[in-house]
Amino acid sequence: MTETRTQTAEAGVSGPAFFGNHIRGQKAAALSGATFESRNPARRAEVVGVFARSGAEDVDAAVRAAAAAQPGWRRTPWPARGEALLRAGLILERRKEELARLMTREMGKVITEARGDVQEAIDMAKYIAGEARRPFGETVPSELRDKWAMTMRQPLGVVGIITPWNFPIAIPAWKLFPALLAGNAVVFKPAEDTPLCALRLVEVLEEAGVPAGVVNIIFGYGPEAGEALLRHPGIAAISFTGSVPTGRHISEVCGGQLKRCSLELGGKNAIVVMGDADLELAVEGALWGAFGTSGQRCTASSRLIIERSALEGFSGRLLERAAALRLGDGLDENVDVGPVINEKQLRRIHGYTEVGVAEGAQLLLGGEVAAEGSLGEGFFYRPTVFGEVRAGMRIEQEEIFGPTTAIIPVSSLDEALTVANGTVYGLSLALYSNDLRTAFRAIEELQAGIVYVNAPTIGAEIQLPFGGIKSTGNGHREAGTVALDQFSEWKSIYVDYSGRLQRAQIDVS
Ligand code: NAP
Repeated sequence: MTETRTQTAEAGVSGPAFFGNHIRGQKAAALSGATFESRNPARRAEVVGVFARSGAEDVDAAVRAAAAAQPGWRRTPWPARGEALLRAGLILERRKEELARLMTREMGKVITEARGDVQEAIDMAKYIAGEARRPFGETVPSELRDKWAMTMRQPLGVVGIITPWNFPIAIPAWKLFPALLAGNAVVFKPAEDTPLCALRLVEVLEEAGVPAGVVNIIFGYGPEAGEALLRHPGIAAISFTGSVPTGRHISEVCGGQLKRCSLELGGKNAIVVMGDADLELAVEGALWGAFGTSGQRCTASSRLIIERSALEGFSGRLLERAAALRLGDGLDENVDVGPVINEKQLRRIHGYTEVGVAEGAQLLLGGEVAAEGSLGEGFFYRPTVFGEVRAGMRIEQEEIFGPTTAIIPVSSLDEALTVANGTVYGLSLALYSNDLRTAFRAIEELQAGIVYVNAPTIGAEIQLPFGGIKSTGNGHREAGTVALDQFSEWKSIYVDYSGRLQRAQIDVS
């Protein structure tokens, strides 16, 4: 058990539950005794839990626990590690509804999407369990007689995992499961806004048979717990998902220590809609892409690049549909758009509305905090659509991470591709067109790690690599057959059974 009730000032009245760090399978308060709260963004008065606020000494304890557990885990056969991950997937399946409801309470996404988030973890568990029986190496002929040449994957040791709050079970699962399958132990620093989802996921792993100490959680703030994790000499690699500024900092710290790091960062994704596209389909995609998870997705469709011949039909339909979206607590099955994560983010999103207006874009819809009735209890922002946005405006270039999208009119496919490619990001780009030549040209020329045709910029599946180019990352990918790459090293092995010294490149015949 890792929770106890905190006592409030009134004797005998129990407050919100306290959750300690999870080290060696045990609850551990921060050595400083410091704590922080996780709150429901739909009802800011509701405290989901009180959590240990960790410092460097707590991180050190977690790294030592992981280092002690790692050799035993590494020696556990791959298929046995895979079996544990498969069991974790089955437990997640059984607990899907409970975990989805917790997620909606802790970070606000509507319940249907929260179920999808847990499903991504289930998918990863099943996928990676299958990989346990095929971590293929190579066996190649040696240039010498009576000699074999082979490769095998090896774990890195103890890896640090740092995650954001927007996919609080899926993103940790996409990292933890391959890291574990490869034989690593982990110290995991989840986002401060979603600690309880993280704890539940790790408890599932232990229930499934991952030994205590193999996965340890350190709760707390990025500049404290996260920073100590990056800098700890016992950490062999950092796997990070989050914003570009934090990612750049992590890359610099890891670079200075010659430590591996893989970065999955932000996006400024676009849907291109050509004049020949099915407009109903494109509007449906734009709504889901722009306003799903209240726009708080790295793959959110925050730019809609529309060929002028389709502009009127597209904009009219989009505004009508977006205006009808219902805001509210995501636990209500009739709600379309939940809150944003916190007050800071609410202010940041509104700040971008002011930027857009000042830049001369047309505010077509929304652009304000929604506070009527019970919405005032949380952090709600109206779905916001800007029109007549020009390439190069800040609202067209910078990641807003909220329910705001920008319509950018263009005159041709060439112009659409130039605008789509014209940001520092390169995560996800989409094209709607019924012309095969247009589609294939776009597939080849769109500069992104992920390209969709006749679907919005969100919708990745576990069996293909996930990640971006340009400032969206540093060349790594998650999921798919490459999922193990960031968590393993290649070892090359030569076995000479000739019984004599054979010199490579010299004794070749
Ligand atoms: P963030 O502010 O960069 O935080 C991400 C994680 O890093 C959090 O756990 C954070 O801790 C931690 N952190 C902050 N400063 C740190 C430091 N100095 N050292 C170590 N860790 C530190 O990002 P976010 O606001 O949570 O997430 C939104 C961003 O993530 C967006 O840019 C979005 O596009 C990106 N994202 C990318 C992908 C992808 O796959 N490409 C997927 C999802 C999200 P705290 O929680 O305490 O701040």
